[in-house]
Amino acid sequence: MPAEELAGLYRRVLEGLGEDPQREGLQGTPLRAARAMQFLTGGYHQSLETLVNGALFTTDSDEMVLVKDIELYSLCEHHLLPIIGKCHVAYIPDGRVLGLSKIARIVDMFARRLQIQESLTRQIAEAVMQVTGARGVGVVAEARHMCMMMRGVEKQGSAMITSVMLGNFREDARTRAEFMDLVRG
Ligand code: ZN
Repeated sequence: MPAEELAGLYRRVLEGLGEDPQREGLQGTPLRAARAMQFLTGGYHQSLETLVNGALFTTDSDEMVLVKDIELYSLCEHHLLPIIGKCHVAYIPDGRVLGLSKIARIVDMFARRLQIQESLTRQIAEAVMQVTGARGVGVVAEARHMCMMMRGVEKQGSAMITSVMLGNFREDARTRAEFMDLVRG
């Protein structure tokens, strides 16, 4: 839907909330909100293939590759409110490594959709597995949910932690432990 059309719906939302969309401070709001929401859900229009764009390199290494503290900004699918946190992604290559920046871009692609944290974590892990053909993948996400915090459902500051382990991260306790130590350290 074009931003202008979406803006019309936001104008209705403002009215529904008892606001006056014509007042000075709100005149540009529907269009700005529409564009912001389109950006924040832009992941629906991305594909893994285009994103990775061949940035795979051969390697002999079978040591863990870890990208830590990737910023995570998503929207919860229940309230359309922000999920803010960090994500840690690790994998053990099986002949191929992925360009470093691509891991963060995979995280963004799935984060810029309406999500629950559990699915987001799983989608990231499966995408990294699919792209790299790794021996194993581990993903840990820790995030705060504005729908809980702003509505006072949870005490401020509590974070939700989700993890997904695939391949030898799932089967091998030592690999998993090494990953978790590195994430904590
Ligand atoms: Zn929510």
